[in-house]
Amino acid sequence: MIVEEITMPAFEAGLKQTRSAILPVGSVEEHGAHLPLGTDTIHVYELAKKTASLRPVFVLPPLWYGLCRSTSQHAGTVGVTGLNLRAFVLDIISSLYGQGIRNLVLISGHAGGTHMAFLVDAGEEAISRFLDMKIAVLSVLDLLKDVPSGLLETPGDSHAGEVETALMLHLRPDHVQGTSPREFPSFPPFILSRNKRRFWPNGVWGDPAKATVQKGEALLEHEVKGLMNLLNTLEGFND
Ligand SMILES: [Zn+2]
Repeated sequence: MIVEEITMPAFEAGLKQTRSAILPVGSVEEHGAHLPLGTDTIHVYELAKKTASLRPVFVLPPLWYGLCRSTSQHAGTVGVTGLNLRAFVLDIISSLYGQGIRNLVLISGHAGGTHMAFLVDAGEEAISRFLDMKIAVLSVLDLLKDVPSGLLETPGDSHAGEVETALMLHLRPDHVQGTSPREFPSFPPFILSRNKRRFWPNGVWGDPAKATVQKGEALLEHEVKGLMNLLNTLEGFND
């Protein structure tokens, strides 16, 4: 059930089938010279919709903005700060609870560590407020940790590289503009830099040239399976 497309009676009827929902979180963020700025949101929203075509679950409209730290100075990145992200997500969770949702998967297409930490913090606050609500927080990269060996060729690939390029070749081939050179950032350990582009000029973390449409299809299928399993586990979870 795609929430933005259904009516009030359909939502009410849907609650009789399931109390589970997916809130996709994305970003407006540079993805090299070849992928669109909305890559994270497009990816996670398509993943959620595909999952909802296979089992009863509500899919909320995605959040288009996230916290982008290391790409904040690259052209096109439009981010929000952590406390606002946390507060906004917490408001949505509170409203969903009022609507009868009891199992929520907060899944992000953007996997930045600071961004994820604020989502986890919003989830922790929500489970302390709503004692019969169950929440899972993860990024799409978490679903790819156990991809079958041989599918991916670039160790450590994470941003606008093999994985995301393959997925976009599958999901939005018209929006992929060729490719970008292989790149890995060279940030110094622990030290925060004011000049992030100096250590990561082209905004690619991995190797886009290794992407194929077939890999994209297989990756999405793997992610859908993982998300289905997580929903089942969450629904049966008791602590
Ligand atoms: Zn991304």
